[in-house]
Amino acid sequence: MTAATRHRWAEVGSHRKRCGACDLLAIRRPNPYGRQWWTEWTRGEQSWNTLQGDKTPPCQPEQHPDREDNQP
Ligand SMILES: [Zn+2]
Repeated sequence: MTAATRHRWAEVGSHRKRCGACDLLAIRRPNPYGRQWWTEWTRGEQSWNTLQGDKTPPCQPEQHPDREDNQP
C-alpha cells in the first residue's frame, strides 16, 4: 500500500460517488447563489463541504468507526 492512498470513486447516482476503500460519499450540489457547484462529503457521522472551505478528506480505509483510538 502506498503512502498516499487515493479514493477509489465509483458512481452511485447522479452527482454522487462513493469510495470503495474508505466508504466516503461525495455529493455534488448546485450552488443556489451562483453557477458554481459545491461538494459535500460524508462518512459515518462526519461531513465536510466546500462551502465552509473544506478540502477532500483523506482516504482512510483502515479507520474503523467503532474504534476510538483518540482516547487519552
Ligand atoms: Zn477513500
